[in-house]
Amino acid sequence: MSEDFQFETLAVRAGIHRSQFGEHGEAMFLTSSFVYDSAAQAAARFSEREAGYIYSRFTNPTVTALQERLAALEGAQACIATASGMSAILTCAMSLLQSGDHVIASHSIFGSTVQLFGGILKRFGVVTTFVSPTDIAAWEAALTPQTKLLFLETPSNPLTEIADIAALAQLAHRAGALLAVDNCFCTPALQRPIELGADIVIHSATKYLDGQGRIIGGAVLGQRDVVMGSVYPFLRTAGPTLSAFNAWVILKGLETLRVRMQAHAANAAELAHWLENQSAVERVYYPGLASHPQHDLAMRQQSSGGGIVSFDVRGGREAAWRVVDATRMLSITANLGDTKSTITHPASTTHGRISAQARAAAGIGEGLLRVAVGLEAIEDIKADLARGLR
Ligand SMILES: *Cc1c(COP(=O)(O)O)cnc(C)c1O
Repeated sequence: MSEDFQFETLAVRAGIHRSQFGEHGEAMFLTSSFVYDSAAQAAARFSEREAGYIYSRFTNPTVTALQERLAALEGAQACIATASGMSAILTCAMSLLQSGDHVIASHSIFGSTVQLFGGILKRFGVVTTFVSPTDIAAWEAALTPQTKLLFLETPSNPLTEIADIAALAQLAHRAGALLAVDNCFCTPALQRPIELGADIVIHSATKYLDGQGRIIGGAVLGQRDVVMGSVYPFLRTAGPTLSAFNAWVILKGLETLRVRMQAHAANAAELAHWLENQSAVERVYYPGLASHPQHDLAMRQQSSGGGIVSFDVRGGREAAWRVVDATRMLSITANLGDTKSTITHPASTTHGRISAQARAAAGIGEGLLRVAVGLEAIEDIKADLARGLR
C-alpha cells in the first residue's frame, strides 16, 4: 500500500489483499494449514524459495493483514503479531537477548513486565537494572559493555511520567544497544516512537488497539532485519501466535483508532481539569495539564495527553476507596483502553504485590486513583466521581 497515504487512510485500508471472491470487508481465515498444488510446491514453500502460506502458527492471511496495517500506522518496516502483550515482550527478549546480556528498564513499567525481566529472564542469565524513566543520567550510569536493550513505557502507569524517547534512543545507540518502547498508552494515533529513534515498539493490542475490551493480543514492530531476521524465527519455532480471529478483531479496531484516541483524550483532558478544581483532590497526574512536571516534553513527543488520568485523594486509602465504592457507572477493574471507563486503586491492586516502601518510593500513595477514561459522556463520568469526592 502506498506510503503516501495519511494515517486515517492507512488505518482503514492498509493490509488488504482480496481473495478470489472480491470481498469488501477483511476476510477471517480460520484455517490451521494451507494446501499446495504439488509436492514440488510444498517443498518450495517449506524451504522459503516460494512465498506463501504454510501453517497458521507463523503465517496466516488475517494475521498478515493486521501486521501490515499496524506497521503502516507505527511507521515500522515490519510487525509480528503475538498472542498477548506479554508474549510480545517475551518474544522480543527471547529473540534479541542471550545469557550474559544486560537490560536497562524503567522501574515504572507494567507489573508482569517487571516480573518477566526481573524474575524469569534472570533465571536464564539476563540481568536487568531498573531505573527511573525520567532520570537520563541514571540510564547512562547503568550502561555496561553487556547492555543490549533499553526498555520503557511512556507515559508510565499510573503516574503518567514521561520518558524522553529521543534522548534514550541516542544513549542506546551510542552504547550499541536497542531501545524498545511499549507504546500501549498512546498508540501510534498519539505517539510514534520509531520516528523519535526507538528501534522496537511493543503493543498490548488488548488495550486501545482493539479498544473495546474483547480480546487479548500483542505485537512487536521494528526494522525488517530485526523483526523478520530475529523475532519471526522465534515465533515460527516457539509459537506465541495470535489467532486469526483475534487478529481480525484488532484489525477492525484499528479502523477507528484515531477517532477513538482523540475522543478518549478529549474526555480525559476535561476530567483532569475538573479534578484539579475539586477540593478533595490533592494532585492530578495528566501529561496534558500545564501543571504536569514534563508537560513540554509530553507535548513534543505526543499529540495529546492520552486517555489515562490519575489523582491523589485527600485522606488516603479510606477516602480513595470511598470514591471507588460511590461510583455507579465506572467499572471497578484494572483493565484500560476500553470504551468503558474504569477506576483502579493501584496501591491495593495492580501495585499491591510490591512492598509499601517500594510503592512509596515510586510515588504510588494510598490515596491514588487511576481512571482510564472511556467514551461515555464526560458529564456522566464527572457525576459518577463527584459523589465520592463530596
Ligand atoms: C496490559 C499491558 C501489557 C500486557 O499486555 P497483555 O495483553 O495483558 O499481555 C503490557 N504493557 C502494558 C503497558 C500494558 O498495559
